[in-house]
Amino acid sequence: MTGTRTLPDIHVTEHAPCWGDEDFAVADDRFKTSSDLIKLCTPVLYVCGGCPFRAACIRQVRPAKTEFSGICGGRIWSNGEIIYSPPDADPTELPAPVHRKACGTAAGVRAHRRAVEQQCPRCQASEPDAEQLELPTSD
Ligand code: SF4
Ligand SMILES: [Zn+2]
Repeated sequence: MTGTRTLPDIHVTEHAPCWGDEDFAVADDRFKTSSDLIKLCTPVLYVCGGCPFRAACIRQVRPAKTEFSGICGGRIWSNGEIIYSPPDADPTELPAPVHRKACGTAAGVRAHRRAVEQQCPRCQASEPDAEQLELPTSD
């Protein structure tokens, strides 16, 4: 839930467009599946995607570590994984890559993806085109 941004040690700036906006705080009991979560967060994605604090927001919320679900940093997350990222999302907004022995191989690429961090230059060179998750179409 996006409410984790209100934990005492987390201070998303009060200048952020989501500040105090309940539509950004999706309660746990409002969704069961990733698809529900995408539907709930999509109406405010255009605000979040244009927010100048995206990178800072990801640094503060640490969604991968906190297993965050909701909207943060212009992306929609479920249990710490990105389930929707707009096609023009800037990967440099994600945390810097940890360098591992596997870097430069497919396993290295996967390790960066699992940690939801940037790809290091060696892994970037070996990374196949990232698959983009589609937003659900309205029925
Ligand atoms: S990136 Fe999104 S969730 Fe984070 S401060 Fe900006 S509007 Fe709020
Ligand atoms: Zn790497």
